[in-house]
Amino acid sequence: MTIPAEPAPVGKSSNAPTEETVLSVRHFTERLFAFRTTRPASFRFRSGEFVMIGLMVDGKPLLRAYSVASPSWDDTLEFYSIKVPDGPLTSRLEKIQPGETLLLGRKPTGTLILDALTQAKRLIMFATGTGIAPFASLIRDPEAYQRFDEVILVHTCRFKAELAYGLELVASLQADPLVGEAASEKLKHIASCTREDFAVTQRITAMIDEAGRFEALTGAALSPETDRVMICGSLEMNADLRLRLEALGFQEGSVANPGQVVVEKAFVG
Ligand SMILES: Cc1cc2nc3c(=O)[nH]c(=O)nc-3n(C[C@H](O)[C@H](O)[C@H](O)COP(=O)(O)OP(=O)(O)OC[C@H]3O[C@@H](n4cnc5c(N)ncnc54)[C@H](O)[C@@H]3O)c2cc1C
Repeated sequence: MTIPAEPAPVGKSSNAPTEETVLSVRHFTERLFAFRTTRPASFRFRSGEFVMIGLMVDGKPLLRAYSVASPSWDDTLEFYSIKVPDGPLTSRLEKIQPGETLLLGRKPTGTLILDALTQAKRLIMFATGTGIAPFASLIRDPEAYQRFDEVILVHTCRFKAELAYGLELVASLQADPLVGEAASEKLKHIASCTREDFAVTQRITAMIDEAGRFEALTGAALSPETDRVMICGSLEMNADLRLRLEALGFQEGSVANPGQVVVEKAFVG
């Protein structure tokens, strides 16, 4: 696909969001959908980062933080979104159609960056709900497979249908010309669902708390010796997991000071 030469700025400021065109929309459940937009040539980001996106509402930009779900090499942008009933942005965004305009901020940022982690054997990504979005980007990035012998994505939702985006994405990677071979060899996806029958029905914290369970699911116990961890979920899940990882001796990292675990909120509230 061809990248448009120059983004169209909204308003006069050079920091104003650009206007991108929605290319496709897919609804997964009543609460979840994904969409693709054009990507301006000037928009650079690292896989795992988030950016402000939104719509013009009553003549003003209404923007929210969104993880970019597509990898940094992709020439279009993908986002994976909740539909919050009466949510200021998502009650409008859920109606978006191909050909319509999405506002895209110019300053992607975030903590879920491969460069914020030191070298180890396994990369483990823990996500709940739409917290899978930054990892949808990272599992399509060849660097994840170059840096780690194993890449493990643990995704928990309440209902089976909410796992579909991740399950389909991981299945589609087998045929991906860029990361297909590495993903087939190194990527493991543990999907769990807490309110319906499924192969795994535990919360992530329970997988870690139950003696021997994490080892049974992934092949080895969670350890700062072998593992680097990324976390993206609700405030509560992030706090619960952080406590457990601190107890195991994991040190938090950043790009300036790489470490063993990085954490980001999937939403506020
Ligand atoms: C760093 C960061 C990255 C984010 N990335 C994404 C993303 O990739 N996809 C996405 O859908 N949202 C993401 N969000 C949340 C997003 O910014 C908005 O909150 C969301 O789009 C709802 O917007 P709204 O205006 O409709 O409602 P808001 O007024 O923003 O939210 C209303 C309430 O809905 C709940 N809520 C908001 N977002 C979610 C969510 N994702 N899952 C469950 N409950 C939620 C919260 O209780 C919140 O208080 C992210 C937030 C942060 C801080």
